Amino acid sequence: MTSFTYAANPVRVVFGSLDAVGAEADLLGLRRVLLVGRPRYADRAAEALGPRLAARFEDAAMHTPVDVTERALKVVAEYDVDGVVAIGGGSATGLAKAIALRTGLPQLIVPTTYAGSELTSVLGQTEDGRKTTQRTPEVRPETVLYDVELTLSLPAAVSAASGLNALAHAVEARYAPDANPMTDLLAAEAVKLLTSALPRIAKDPSDVDARTDALRGAWLAGTCLDAVTMGLHHRLCHFLGGKFGLPHAETHAVLLPYVMAHQGLEDAGEIFELAASLPIPHSLAELGLTEADIADEPEADLLRAAITGTRPAAPPSLKALTKQVVDSFAAAP
Ligand code: NAD
Repeated sequence: MTSFTYAANPVRVVFGSLDAVGAEADLLGLRRVLLVGRPRYADRAAEALGPRLAARFEDAAMHTPVDVTERALKVVAEYDVDGVVAIGGGSATGLAKAIALRTGLPQLIVPTTYAGSELTSVLGQTEDGRKTTQRTPEVRPETVLYDVELTLSLPAAVSAASGLNALAHAVEARYAPDANPMTDLLAAEAVKLLTSALPRIAKDPSDVDARTDALRGAWLAGTCLDAVTMGLHHRLCHFLGGKFGLPHAETHAVLLPYVMAHQGLEDAGEIFELAASLPIPHSLAELGLTEADIADEPEADLLRAAITGTRPAAPPSLKALTKQVVDSFAAAP
């Protein structure tokens, strides 16, 4: 018998329309909301929030810089805010989480990418060129509102990178030491949805069915990531993001097949082909990383292959391993 532990995490997830943001804010008892997000998508949220809106903050940035959070906290205090609504990608969500960590304010997140941060109790923050990541239920948002329509404007390249970032969450859950039957199910469905959706989105970013599959996949991937211990893939991405400022989603997208091959996952080759077919950078060199940067890293071999973008060495398939064992018996005297 295999023992395992699974705890369902308490996030209210609504798939529907941004128009519901006011009603969802009411359910959380919010009367003085800080709205985080760029005008492009936040303007509609501001309208839907109506009189509940107290203040806006537009400057969320990748990897959640602490100085940006400090500026946002001044707005929180000045306007006597009682909750945060964030609309945007993982950068907007990260800022909402950073505010929640320091104030205990409830969060309502409206994601417009596939980052999945809205489902996790993980917060990565940067200060002085170093990214530190912590895991605490205090940063897990109370409510997530998904509206597929908001993702239609996400450009093909950003969609592809962000979708592979989501795929990485599901894949990491497959080899986590605390994977369990529930996370296996979530991960398998997330992989199915995302691998089917991403080529369709690359071909036609306005394909609503593909966008729906991708957003559902991102939701499931984020959910299973939150239920397991993060491993090698996230450790490498956080290190590269923090130390060299590499872009989050693209770094995940490039590294994923290399980590999969390193972990012995049989579909590493398929994911390499998928990534190769998408409009994203295909090597860490394209993101500005050099071999000298990573010479002293413990995973330098893996990173070196990802810098050049060469196909990762395929792990032996189960069939090949079985044949090896059978052959060794046959050869025995
Ligand atoms: P992002 O939020 O910076 O968005 C990427 C780009 O897409 C931005 O330029 C943004 O303005 C644009 N964009 C977003 N939605 C759009 C839309 N619908 N239409 C047009 N443009 C749109 O990047 P991201 O990849 O979503 O998130 C990365 C950040 O999230 C990083 O800081 C990362 O550390 C964090 N993250 C955290 C977790 C976690 O669990 N803690 C998980 C994943 C990502």
